Amino acid sequence: MSLLVVGSVAFDALETPHGKVERTLGGAASYFALAASYFAPVRVVAIVGDDFSAKDKAVFHGRQIDLTGVEHAAGKTFFWSGRYSKNMNERTTLATELNVFANFRPTLPGAYCDSSFIFLGNIDPTLQRSVLKQMKCKPKVVGLDTMNYWIERTPAELRETLRHTQILMINDDETRQLTGEHNLMRAAKHVFKMGPRTLVIKRGEHGALMVHNNFLFSVPAFPLEEVHDPTGAGDSFAGGFMGYLAREGRINDQILRRAMVYGSVLGSFAVERFGVERLTNLTLREINARARRFLKLTAFKL
Ligand code: AMP
Repeated sequence: MSLLVVGSVAFDALETPHGKVERTLGGAASYFALAASYFAPVRVVAIVGDDFSAKDKAVFHGRQIDLTGVEHAAGKTFFWSGRYSKNMNERTTLATELNVFANFRPTLPGAYCDSSFIFLGNIDPTLQRSVLKQMKCKPKVVGLDTMNYWIERTPAELRETLRHTQILMINDDETRQLTGEHNLMRAAKHVFKMGPRTLVIKRGEHGALMVHNNFLFSVPAFPLEEVHDPTGAGDSFAGGFMGYLAREGRINDQILRRAMVYGSVLGSFAVERFGVERLTNLTLREINARARRFLKLTAFKL
C-alpha cells in the first residue's frame, strides 16, 4: 500500500571524525523516502528551491518514489549544517537556513489523497494537520515525528495533531518533555491518553523501544565497527518502520515487531556512509540478511 511522507528535503553540510562534506542531499523526507522505498511505493510532499537540480532529483529516480508532491519555489533549498563530536554522541548544529522551507504550505496532488499510510515528518504541527485534512479517505495509519522546538512552542497544536495519530516516533528526551514524566513507561501511558496507540522511542546507539497497548518490544542498535555519519539515522529508522507496515498493509503485534527490526536495519545502513549514500545502493538481500542477524543478536533460551 502507498505511503505518504511530508517533511524536509535539504542540502546538508556535515562534519564527523571521518570526514567532511560541504553540500549533500539531506532532509528527513529524503532519508525516510529512500529507506521506505525498499518496501513500498512512497509519495513525497516537500519543498525545494531553484538550486535543486535535475541531478539532485536523480537520486530518487528508478525507485518507487513519487516526487509529484515536491514543490519547486523561487529561492534556496533548506540548508542545515552539523558537526559531530569525536565519539559522535554529541552534535552541534552550525546552521539552519530555512529558505523556501519557511513558506512551506504542504499541498497534496489529487492522486496522493487516497494514501493509506502517512508519515508526518518533523514540521509545524499545524502543517502536519493540514496534510491530514487534505486526505479524501481516512488513512489506515498515521505516524508522527516531532521535536523539542514544537513541543515547547506549539503544545496545543501538537496535541490536536496527536489526536489523529496512531504511532508516535520520538526520542527519549522528547518523550519526557512532551509528557513531563521522566519514567518512560509512565510517559507512554500519558502518550496513549493523547491519541497514539503505539509509542516508538528512538534511543540512538541504545536502539529503540516500542510500547504498544499492553506489550513492550525492544531492539538494539546494530553493532557496527564503523559509523561514518549518524545524520538521518532516526529518519531512516522511521522509513524502514513505516515502509514495512505499508508493505504488509495492516498492523498486528508481530508486524509491529518486525517493523522495529527493519527500522533498525535501515537506520544502521544509513550511518555507514555520509549523507544518504548508503541508502541509495542497498539490496533487499542485504536488508534481509541484516534482519536475520538481529534474530541471532537477540535470541536466547531460558
Ligand atoms: P536527524 O539526524 O534524524 O536529526 O536528521 C537530520 C536531517 O534533518 C538533516 O538531513 C537535516 O537536513 C534535517 N533537519 C535538520 N533540522 C531540521 C528542522 N528544523 N526541520 C526539518 N528538518 C531538519
